[in-house]
Amino acid sequence: ATPTAIMVGTGRGASNGILIKSADSLETAGRIKTVVFDKTGTITQGKPGVVDVAPANGVAASDLVALASAVESKSEHPVAQAIVEYAESQGIQPVQDTVSDFTQVPGEGVRALVGGRTCLAGNARMMASNQVALDNAEDAAERYADEGATPLFFALDGKLQGIIAAADAIKPTSARAIRELHAMGIDTVMLTGDNERTAHAIQKQAGLGKVIAGVLPQDKEREVARLSQEGGVGMVGDGINDAPALARADVGIAIGAGTDIAIESADLVLMRSDLMDVPAAIQLSRRTLRTIK
Ligand code: ADP
Ligand code: MG
Repeated sequence: ATPTAIMVGTGRGASNGILIKSADSLETAGRIKTVVFDKTGTITQGKPGVVDVAPANGVAASDLVALASAVESKSEHPVAQAIVEYAESQGIQPVQDTVSDFTQVPGEGVRALVGGRTCLAGNARMMASNQVALDNAEDAAERYADEGATPLFFALDGKLQGIIAAADAIKPTSARAIRELHAMGIDTVMLTGDNERTAHAIQKQAGLGKVIAGVLPQDKEREVARLSQEGGVGMVGDGINDAPALARADVGIAIGAGTDIAIESADLVLMRSDLMDVPAAIQLSRRTLRTIK
């Protein structure tokens, strides 16, 4: 594109809340064939709330919540905050036992010692890797997931204490933005560390073309690299976890309300954090490219 066209395009972007970091990215955005989205905080609000508590094995619901809030107070995952806030809203104190040896298990959840007993908090995969029997809790978990909620499992010394379901609603314009991209002939994909069933429910709500669930942070980058071999890939994300994938994509697009590292790793920043600005940015770029020739 001519320097003038680039200047006009960049200026038009800025006045519409789309920060374009380089002339290159403005041009590349017009050749995007696939847009890859992160789920939490990108397609969804990123502020999950507890929607149900289902204790197991005779545990009282308040004891499950007390255990969960003690462990989750150490975690920075959005679901952890949902549980801590839920416990507070219900007036349930976290268990008083000391929480020590807190560790994160990538793609699974967290583990800690609570009063010397091993507590696991995570997804079904974490329960399976630790031989925690789910029995009929699995049916409840699938029901939550089919509604788009994330079932979080809690175990103490290898015994299931129950499930807490957390739901993170999709943003008001996610579905419209995705329809718009499809109308422009662009494929859409969502990548998430969340489980397959929850991911499919969100896919349906947002009208996404494809989902890849259960991905570890490092796999996000690999998936973007793989898709990039078939044509231009735009990656939209907000999290620390998304930074490598944003850098790897042909055009990294950060949510303005996202983490600093995501914003630094991206080529475009959506200052309004509105996904409608993804098709808008691509249109802007297409128009800029057309004024070249
Ligand atoms: P994502 O950010 O896409 O959820 P993560 O790799 O951070 O990906 O987490 C994968 C899954 O592990 C989550 O969807 C959740 O089911 C589980 N998990 C992660 N952190 C916690 C936590 N603090 N408590 C319970 N489960 C967790
Ligand atoms: Mg995210």
